[in-house]
Order: sequence, then C-alpha cells, then structure tokens
Amino acid sequence: MDTGLRNKTALVCASSQGLGKGCALALAREGVSLVLNARTAATLDATADEIRRATGVKVTAVACDITTPEGRAQVLAACPAPDILVNNAGGPPIGDFRDWDERTWQKAVNDNMITPIMLIRAVVDGMVARRFGRIVNITSRSVKAPLPDLGLSNGARAGLTGFVAGLARQVAKHNVTINNLLPGPFETARTVDGLAKRAAKAGIDVATFAAARRAEVPAGRFGTPDEFGKACVFLCSADAGFIVGQNLLIDGGAVNVTL
Ligand code: NAP
Repeated sequence: MDTGLRNKTALVCASSQGLGKGCALALAREGVSLVLNARTAATLDATADEIRRATGVKVTAVACDITTPEGRAQVLAACPAPDILVNNAGGPPIGDFRDWDERTWQKAVNDNMITPIMLIRAVVDGMVARRFGRIVNITSRSVKAPLPDLGLSNGARAGLTGFVAGLARQVAKHNVTINNLLPGPFETARTVDGLAKRAAKAGIDVATFAAARRAEVPAGRFGTPDEFGKACVFLCSADAGFIVGQNLLIDGGAVNVTL
C-alpha cells in the first residue's frame, strides 16, 4: 500500500519509547521526517539515532515536558508546520478516587486533555491552509470501557474525545482529519510498571499475574508498539481522508462489546 506520506513531516509527542516510538518508527519507514519529544534527553537521543539509522529520514529530537506551555513552545519552534501530529504523553497513575485531590485531577486533565488540545490549536489552521493534515491522539480503551483503578484516565481522556469529536467535523472538508487510537494492553514500560503494582496489591507474583492478564485478552497476548504504529500510519495515510472523528480500539478484543 502506498501511504502517500513520503517527505511529509510529523511531530510525534512523548516518543522515546512505547506507543509513541512505535508511531514514530512506522511513520519514518514511510519516509516521514520526524520531530520527536520526551523529557529524558539520553533515551530520546538514542531513539532518534536508532530511527535515523533504520530509515534514513531526518529526525530532530526535542527534550522537554510536553505538558508545559514552555515544552510545547519548544517542540513547535522545531516543528511549526507539521503535516502530521501524534498527541501522546505519560498516562495518569492508577489508584483509588478517594486519593485524588483537586491538584491530581488538574494534572490529569492538563496532561491528557488540555495538552493535546493546545497542540491541535497551534497546528490545525496551518493544516487547513495547506489542505492536508492528519492528527492522531493516543488515548485509551478506558474511553470506551472505564478501568476501575484508572478513573483519572477515564475522565480526562473522555474530555479530549468529546472536544475532538466536534472539531474533527469542522476541519474534515479541508482534508484535515482528527482521529483517536485507543490502546488496550500493550507490551510497554508503562504496562510492566502497572502489572508490578497490581500484582503486588493482589499478593501474586508478577509473572503469574501477567500470564493471567494476557490469557484474558481474546488475542491471547498483549499488543506490540510496532503494530500500534502501523495502525497510526494507516490513519495518517493520504487515502484516509474520509476517516473522520473515529475512535479505533486496538486491544486484541479485550473490550467485550458488539459496537
Ligand atoms: P511508556 O512506555 O511509559 O512511554 C511513555 C513515553 O512518553 C516515553 O517516551 C516518555 O519519556 C514520554 N513522556 C512521558 N511523559 C512525558 C511528558 N510529560 N513530556 C514528554 N514526554 C513524556 O508509555 P506507553 O505505554 O507507550 O503509553 C503511552 C500512552 O498511552 C500513555 O498515556 C498511556 O497511559 C496510554 N496507554 C497505554 C496503554 C498500554 O498498554 N501501554 C494502554 C492504554 C493507554 P520520558 O519519561 O523521558 O519523558
């Protein structure tokens, strides 16, 4: 399949590892120049080198916190007119809603709702003017099916989903699409960390706990960042301009719903 993305430019936020990196690498394989971002410079630079060596595309690394206005200004200075924006940031912590005070909620809403909205606001008019734009927000299956210990994600990401559902329909006629990718369980550092915490809480050794969680997924396994990245490429491809405001669940069938 010719994705029509050669020589396009993508800003991929929070992309030194995990799902963001999966998207960055898959886009680079299609000939897309990248601006990558994460807070830890050493890991980010290593990922940028790896992608340059693997694909030969131009990769610029901007080490900063994407959830701050200063961080967003830094990445936008490096990439003021992206053709593709992949919104991503660290997810909120797991826990009990009784433990989350106003400040904790404000951080979750800032990181997982306001940050992507501010980045969309900064780039979408340029995409409209150039008559091409692809915006993909990495959200979570928690938007479709709430996770009991991830109320911060259930709430904040639903806010982003509601906002982009409206905006996506305002910009679609200009060949600018906004869609969301909803990951289920993937083999990433965040998942490893979450499994360790949940196993400790349940008093079960982590290997047994993880095997049980994998067995619960109809696909019998967790997903890989590579396959997540390929779904992102599909939504960004030139021929995907009629896919507007959708929420694509990538979860091996874990969310048990008909529609
Ligand atoms: P991950 O493996 O922990 O990777 C997170 C990436 O984001 C790293 O590159 C990290 O680098 C960067 N990052 C984190 N906070 C940042 C910030 N404030 N500014 C800039 N970069 C930042 O996580 P993941 O599993 O890929 O998850 C990505 C997103 O998908 C999260 O929001 C997560 O909640 C959501 N999600 C994941 C799953 C899953 O199964 N993996 C399922 C549902 C939803 P630095 O730490 O160096 O900044």
